Amino acid sequence: MSTTSFSRLALPDALLANLDSLGYRAMTPVQSRALPAALEGRDVLAQAQTGSGKTAAFGLSLLARLDLASSRIQGLVLCPTRELADQVAEALRALARRLANVKVLTLCGGAPFGPQLASLEHGAHIVVGTPGRVEDHLRRGTLHLGGLATLVLDEADRMLDMGFQAAIDDIAAQTPSRRQTLLFSATYPAEAAEGGLAGFTRGLLHEPHIVRVEDTHNDATIEQHFYVVADEAARLAALRRLLLYYRPASGVVFCHTKRDTHAVADDLNAAGMQALALNGDLEQKDRERILVMFANQSVTLLVATDVAARGLDIDGVDAVFSLGVAHELDVHTHRVGRTGRAGKQGVACTLISEKERFRLLQLSEQQGEEYEPEPLPEVADTTPLAAPMATLQLGAGKKDKLRPGDILGALTGDGGIAGDQVGKIKVLARSAYVAVARGAARQALAKLERDRLKGRNVRVRRVTQ
Ligand code: AMP
Repeated sequence: MSTTSFSRLALPDALLANLDSLGYRAMTPVQSRALPAALEGRDVLAQAQTGSGKTAAFGLSLLARLDLASSRIQGLVLCPTRELADQVAEALRALARRLANVKVLTLCGGAPFGPQLASLEHGAHIVVGTPGRVEDHLRRGTLHLGGLATLVLDEADRMLDMGFQAAIDDIAAQTPSRRQTLLFSATYPAEAAEGGLAGFTRGLLHEPHIVRVEDTHNDATIEQHFYVVADEAARLAALRRLLLYYRPASGVVFCHTKRDTHAVADDLNAAGMQALALNGDLEQKDRERILVMFANQSVTLLVATDVAARGLDIDGVDAVFSLGVAHELDVHTHRVGRTGRAGKQGVACTLISEKERFRLLQLSEQQGEEYEPEPLPEVADTTPLAAPMATLQLGAGKKDKLRPGDILGALTGDGGIAGDQVGKIKVLARSAYVAVARGAARQALAKLERDRLKGRNVRVRRVTQ
């Protein structure tokens, strides 16, 4: 028997026979690594992308462990969006085809409560839903999870991005502490990340079996390029040209002074790109806002001083540009290290003046590389870089009991936009930011302006282009 054959697993015959009819001949890597532990009842923390077969990885385990004689809810799958929840529910029903009468129910925001209440009254074995709506049902007392055996978090990283951590913690707290938890995430929760996914998973999982695709950290490659420019004007022109050539989805431009950060950001904005200056003059709340917009992909470029960028989580960007070599060589290395994370190719471009050529020699010596200035590349595509998302700001926040699920529900409800057009959601004390696909921003704004949120009109405005 091959090690990837499903028949190795302790699956009921009806499930096995059905896999054959679905054309699943062998387990995918995430299935062969997650299923044995999941079927034993262990917690699992798996890094898995869409298309890896993750739905069947948790779905088969959920179904194999169901007690069909009981009508209590035994499995709960939380998903970031209604679309994903619908897909997961459909996949579970297909996997369960040959099991008698397995009931899978979806509970998502943006859909009316009435039919959900009726379905809940009829009972279900597995509920698939979005965190906000599931939490609402728990609060209203229309959903009971006291008999839950398994909690699944699908696309956990995306749920965190959308601000669902509090809702998920709240839901988990209303399930038996002995439950099994299966957590799937496209990114691996780095231990180093403050709070974030790592802290979150620690609270929810008990001695999890870990399934991780190979750590590609060390394969990260960073290309360094150096260009000599004559003066200030040439420097700005060269930067624009490099941006059009490399077309990073995210980048940081380092400058020596605060004044430079403003001048450079203004120049890039005038050229139709989305850049913001990040420097020590900003108040804490402005810095926060800028980082939210950078992280949610509605601002492509941060133009920063080293001091302002210190300690900020702006790593893993596609490209780093230095206007001048940093005064200390270690600082240069630190700048460059902000790109090329997690196995991605990174680009670091440094623009130097004639007078700085000697610094290039120093860098070469220090790093044991022979760095030579290059001519600027020819640009074929001159359309300005456009950030994929736009940010809407709402004039209500946690203090107004506004939750991410409310925003998601309002955006994707009737006449709204699709769940996959909604990006990161960040709810602060008195305001909230939501990223939406730029092409859908007008519709999203109109929808939020028209609808009431939490029973009242909330001020909303678009804060990025
Ligand atoms: P997912 O990553 O869960 O979105 O699954 C991606 C696709 O792979 C879905 O269309 C599944 O039906 C399919 N799939 C999952 N597991 C297997 C398997 N072991 N063999 C063949 N197809 C599979």
